[in-house]
Amino acid sequence: MKLLEGRKGVIFGVANKRSIAWACAKALSDAGMQLAFTYQGDRLRESVEKLVTELPGESPVYPCDVTSDDEIERVFDQLGSDFGSLDMLLHSVAFAKKEELEKGLVYSSREGFLEAQNISAYSLVALARGAMPLLEKSDNGSVLTMTYYGAEKVARGYNLMGVAKASLEACVRYLASDLGEKGIRVNAISAGPVNTLAARGGIRGFTKMLAHHAEQAPLRRNIEVEEVANAALFLASGLGSGVTGEVLHVDCGFNIIAI
Ligand code: NAD
Repeated sequence: MKLLEGRKGVIFGVANKRSIAWACAKALSDAGMQLAFTYQGDRLRESVEKLVTELPGESPVYPCDVTSDDEIERVFDQLGSDFGSLDMLLHSVAFAKKEELEKGLVYSSREGFLEAQNISAYSLVALARGAMPLLEKSDNGSVLTMTYYGAEKVARGYNLMGVAKASLEACVRYLASDLGEKGIRVNAISAGPVNTLAARGGIRGFTKMLAHHAEQAPLRRNIEVEEVANAALFLASGLGSGVTGEVLHVDCGFNIIAI
């Protein structure tokens, strides 16, 4: 019997085959989990619908822009009819306008700052609330999100997203406290840099960042996206049943190095 046989999950944040969420989807599916997906807007619909055909079985795909409460409500209504219950929700969503990300935090606009918080941090709260009635039915409900070390220390070039990730990590702890009595765990994976659409397109000096991580990290290399997926597998499964409110670093140890 596979580790996640008979388990059901929903994944927010697949844009294309390079997405961290897609690597997680493949690992979770290989372990036997049945998955549903959402996509942000019509632009990504085709890409996500095509990708999911690579997975065995049926994978429902629903539209969901996480800034829309109506769309969030609709997703969980549909999941209620299609799946009946949920064992895992993966939130792998973040956004800030490139021009906002590029400038120092001190120059960020109110609108840009709030948009980054709304999409990158508040969305976890809204999704966890929406999923609660379905996750409660599981004996091992698990909510996962993706964060980055720029939440803890200043990563030049990360700017207002660092503040949004700090907020996201605090949301993980408060949500873990709120949902613990329902048997639902909430954790974050703090991934080292991975070459994806969001990273390369949004973060100034991303190539330099990759090189710096590889040079400084104890393991002297960058992570493979499959290593993030394996951590997601651990946290989503019974193997992680005692872990909640945690930020698990999958970064080849980069975060332990001072100088
Ligand atoms: P990605 O571009 O593949 O994924 C980002 C996703 O966010 C996309 O699917 C996009 O559609 C979605 N999104 C943005 N705005 C949305 C909205 N309003 N509604 C719904 N979805 C929306 O890039 P990725 O690198 O795989 O990013 C996934 C997560 O991993 C993000 O939270 C990112 O901050 C985090 N992360 C990435 C890295 C890295 O180096 N790539 C490192 C650590 C953490």
